[in-house]
Amino acid sequence: MPTSDRLYLSPPHMGGAELDFVHRAFESNFIAPLGPQLAEFEAEFSRLTGFAHCLGLSSGTAAIHLGLRQLGVGPGDVVIASTLTFIGSVTPATFLGADLHFVDCDAATWTMDPALLAEAVDQVEADGRRVGAVIPTDLYGQCSDYDALLAVCHPRGIPLLVDAAEAVGAAYKDRHAGRGGDAAVYSFNGNKIITTGGGGLLASDDKALIDEARRLSQQARDPAPHYQHSTIGYNYRMSNVAAAIGLGQLDVLAERVARRRAIFDWYVDSLGRLPGVSFMPEAAYGLGNRWLTVILLDEAEFGAGPEDVRLALEAENIESRPVWKPMHMQPVFRDVPCSGGAVSEGLFRRGLCLPSGTAMSEAELDRVARRVAAMTATSPRGGRGTP
Ligand SMILES: *Cc1c(COP(=O)(O)O)cnc(C)c1O
Repeated sequence: MPTSDRLYLSPPHMGGAELDFVHRAFESNFIAPLGPQLAEFEAEFSRLTGFAHCLGLSSGTAAIHLGLRQLGVGPGDVVIASTLTFIGSVTPATFLGADLHFVDCDAATWTMDPALLAEAVDQVEADGRRVGAVIPTDLYGQCSDYDALLAVCHPRGIPLLVDAAEAVGAAYKDRHAGRGGDAAVYSFNGNKIITTGGGGLLASDDKALIDEARRLSQQARDPAPHYQHSTIGYNYRMSNVAAAIGLGQLDVLAERVARRRAIFDWYVDSLGRLPGVSFMPEAAYGLGNRWLTVILLDEAEFGAGPEDVRLALEAENIESRPVWKPMHMQPVFRDVPCSGGAVSEGLFRRGLCLPSGTAMSEAELDRVARRVAAMTATSPRGGRGTP
């Protein structure tokens, strides 16, 4: 039962300037969908990511829908997606009448395995099907290996749409998360590293792609004084008030990334020496935003499994969550093929996301770590550092 001292997994954390930006929107009466704050948010996001064109939308899921459509995905195509992800990453392919094919992650990065992607493309094409797009997920704020994925996709003319919904502020080599894909999507849902109270964004260097996506996101109106339509569109645009909140959040993004990384390090210092405990690895090619700290428990060694720990935390009013249940294990996708799958199945069995909100105090972190540590009877708790 939520109470005031409940510790949530990843609650919104305002930076302080958000209300000023919202006031500015109110003063100019740009409460209606479009307005200067939205344009400014998109320009700021271009500066952050390096993408020439950014389009603010109502959700990350909407951004994926428009992104896939603009990359040419249509009925009968196959969209190849990460199996270890959130469902919003993969449902938009079905909105377009495409079929899905899932690919497992590799154990070193927890993101799409490029070798398995190559196998998946071969298999789909051997079946006489067209791969419309590949959409890898940057899991828990860790970038996929874009260059390795592009080496599979581009020689065969397959576009890459990066699902960087969880990876705002993360880096791949010297670029922002998502950069390198033909397009990328981001989410500002309430539990992500920064939020607009619900929102998403589609980014690309392709001006025509973003221009048409913008038109489609506003009901695909033809250029006429009356309301005239020659295509089917959507109501997917981000509101100006939401963008104003986003401007305040962008101001503190670098702090938020540093804090999430410090929280991860703190958990590792506190719990990493316990038997049977390990944490999500970090890929050598990037710097993750550590959106959520994921702990892996070897039940035999630790003496308790992730679900035991989750229930023990819940009994103390602390929210934690299993690792995403892989898409190929979802009842709704029981008929969808998957290349590999054992790695993400193992992570789902052993993984637990710990509270990672950036507003958490050290005492609150300690409350979580003590409860987790108490679940292993055999070993004294290791020392811990300061965040
Ligand atoms: C949050 C999320 C989405 C969807 O974003 P919404 O803004 O909630 O629609 C898509 N993919 C991944 C990997 C996500 O974590």
